[in-house]
Amino acid sequence: MECQDYGLTRNTEKINLNLNPLQRGGVLPVEARKALYEFSDGYSVCDYCSGRLDEISKPMIKDFLEDLALFVNTDHARTVHGAREGKFAVMHALCKPGDTIVIDGNAHYTTHVAAERAGLNMVEVPNNEYPNYEITPEGYKEVLDDLNDQGEEVSLALLTHVDGNYGNLSDASSIGKITHNAGVPLLLNCAYSMGRLPIDAKALNADFVVGSGHKSMAASGPIGVLGLKEEWADILLKKSHRHGVKELEMLGCTSRGAPIATLMASLPFVIERIKNWDNEVNDTREFVKHMEKIEGIVQLGVKPTKHDLIRLNTLIFDEIAAKHPRRGFFLYEELKKRNIVGIKRGQTKWFKCSLYGFNSEQKGYILNSFMEIVDKYQSNLD
Ligand SMILES: *Cc1c(COP(=O)(O)O)cnc(C)c1O
Repeated sequence: MECQDYGLTRNTEKINLNLNPLQRGGVLPVEARKALYEFSDGYSVCDYCSGRLDEISKPMIKDFLEDLALFVNTDHARTVHGAREGKFAVMHALCKPGDTIVIDGNAHYTTHVAAERAGLNMVEVPNNEYPNYEITPEGYKEVLDDLNDQGEEVSLALLTHVDGNYGNLSDASSIGKITHNAGVPLLLNCAYSMGRLPIDAKALNADFVVGSGHKSMAASGPIGVLGLKEEWADILLKKSHRHGVKELEMLGCTSRGAPIATLMASLPFVIERIKNWDNEVNDTREFVKHMEKIEGIVQLGVKPTKHDLIRLNTLIFDEIAAKHPRRGFFLYEELKKRNIVGIKRGQTKWFKCSLYGFNSEQKGYILNSFMEIVDKYQSNLD
């Protein structure tokens, strides 16, 4: 057979400013691009392996995992292939098929599919709906109390630290206290937080944390981080009967090549950048403040926001679209002309965006571009 040209060229980031929140935290620093090249070959980290990926000393995976555990304040850390694989590993190790777990109503779909794959029943703590869509400690208490009254045992509680729809930062510390009082361990999904803002798993009362290298830790991935408290090590890091050194839930070895090399190369950069978190949040608030001066633009979710991912209702762009010859595509096309991408084609009623990691000049340019587009068409509306 003959293969087609698969179109493996990409210059999106070189030419444009990408506002897609999914991609803002996964941009590699130069050091990681070098590591990606050095470790491009398959099994490239395995030259000096004596049976355990997490104990390899060249490259220094063992030391790196110790640093990673320090970074999120857990007793142990492992890499997995993504946040979802981390969640599945915890669910699979702690629960039996048919068990009940409690999750938040803002959970990512990967929480649902991981639980489904592990054969678990999910009971949801609803958010408090429009306009904040917030997950509250009271919500967890109510659901856990109800389950307790029904005599239902709960094996695990999961909380999305920052959700991908509204960018709400949940009160993990209070929720962890509540689940612990109910005798239920807490798994905190930090896909949108670990690597952007400081994570202290112990202060957040989390028994387990998972992170996403390609989402928020400046790694090419696919790679995730799984951190756990000592008391769960026997269960989550148990060894194979047949292959005594291999950790079962890790299927022996997890990330074994370029993905882990980029995460390792990025860690010093990530440790530095989280110090700038308060500025990122302030810049996001400023952006929202200016955008909301445009009539018909409102931020949903908790206000003022505590994260860089924001969801805006953008009635104004929908009204413009109704009269524009390009209809819903006008916004995408106007932004693209200005080398701004990451808002879905055809979408004008609302969108999610993030300015995370851009410098102040770029942030100003992005805001001005939205203003310009509104100015250009607003007069047509009357
Ligand atoms: C992106 C995201 C995930 C998925 O992360 P992977 O590392 O790709 O598995 C999980 N949870 C949340 C909240 C996310 O935003």
